[in-house]
Amino acid sequence: MASLSISDRPVQASQPPGSVAAPSPTLGPGGAAPGSQQALALRNREIVLAGLLAAGPATQAALARSTGLSAATVSNVVSRLRREGRVRTDYTVSHGRRAVLVQLQEGRPLAAGFEVSSGLLHAVLLRPGGQIVARASVPASGLQTGAGLSEAVADSLRILLAEVGAEEGSLGAASVALPRPPVPGAGPVTGGIAFRGCSGGAIQAVIQEALGVPVTVAAAPAMAAFAHSRHLQATDGAVLFLSAGSEVTAGIVLGGQPYTGHAGLAGQIGHIRVSDQGLPCRCGNRGCLDTIASVPAVLAAYATAHAPVTFREFAAFAVAGDPAALRIAEAAAEALGRAAAGAANIINPRHIVLSGPLGALGALLLDPFRRSLVKEAGPGIGDAAVVSLNALGPDAAAVGAALYAARAITTF
Ligand SMILES: [Zn+2]
Repeated sequence: MASLSISDRPVQASQPPGSVAAPSPTLGPGGAAPGSQQALALRNREIVLAGLLAAGPATQAALARSTGLSAATVSNVVSRLRREGRVRTDYTVSHGRRAVLVQLQEGRPLAAGFEVSSGLLHAVLLRPGGQIVARASVPASGLQTGAGLSEAVADSLRILLAEVGAEEGSLGAASVALPRPPVPGAGPVTGGIAFRGCSGGAIQAVIQEALGVPVTVAAAPAMAAFAHSRHLQATDGAVLFLSAGSEVTAGIVLGGQPYTGHAGLAGQIGHIRVSDQGLPCRCGNRGCLDTIASVPAVLAAYATAHAPVTFREFAAFAVAGDPAALRIAEAAAEALGRAAAGAANIINPRHIVLSGPLGALGALLLDPFRRSLVKEAGPGIGDAAVVSLNALGPDAAAVGAALYAARAITTF
């Protein structure tokens, strides 16, 4: 399988792999709203794991003292870690009293990330330190059901592990990036994937059972943003990742952690209104960003002005200077900039990354996007944001998912 470094250079698995900055063991929670119960639990878990990593085996009482957490909190975290196979516990005697000794389970050092896109499953394997050791993108069918997806994930994992000569038991954790997490009542997942009768929790459970390690399910744009926050070493800042494809979506990183919102639906930037006189959108409103800057919208505009073309043809025309293609691409870039300005006014990103098929037009989009962003955003916000193109390749969300999963592994 093709194996790409994080800088997008082709390498074989036996060559030195690309790498991204290693997650800090003191990083806070991810994927949960800052301040939520889930975020607090994740943070406590990382504090306990970091304490064990730094000090080696310790009693629960000693962990409570060294971490500043309450004895009850340490006990809860340790119980969960024991169920996940991350730690083992033994009874011992400390200061003349019976105590619980906690130590890390070794030997499961690899983390895997997967990304479902239309007809493709991207897979990435990381080793401690955040280095990519194997990477594959395989055509897969049946991804629209939990069973089909878990089977494809397990198959691609076996291929990657075999490629690097690792045993199946060496995987410590995995994360799966979906175009949008399927949540009850939110309708089918977009991006060409529709999970039938499956909630996000059900998909997580079935994949976790198939792999036998802790698994998380997250939104792909948030994972792509997370990967870029590490790549750009923006772990203390905010990153806005924009993907312009079959729809326009945004991934958000705040304080170095992916932010996915109350129901996992944050980042629906495609439904921000950018034109009062715009075309009707499938959401029922008019003038949404999706009606100007998604690939279907761009192709529809070109078909109206000229003739029906594929996106590949449209991109070639734009690069060659075809006036109609350029005008439509610039209008899309300006609309993206306007919507990004609205988001930037709220989260004040250090970095904004453009991605997706439209993002592949690269330099053609960057200038009109920047102009529009700076014009529409508040003072000191648009011009302070560093705008760049996706530097991690079409599987950026799989890279982010692997980095996200790695946070559960103590040796990272
Ligand atoms: Zn809409």
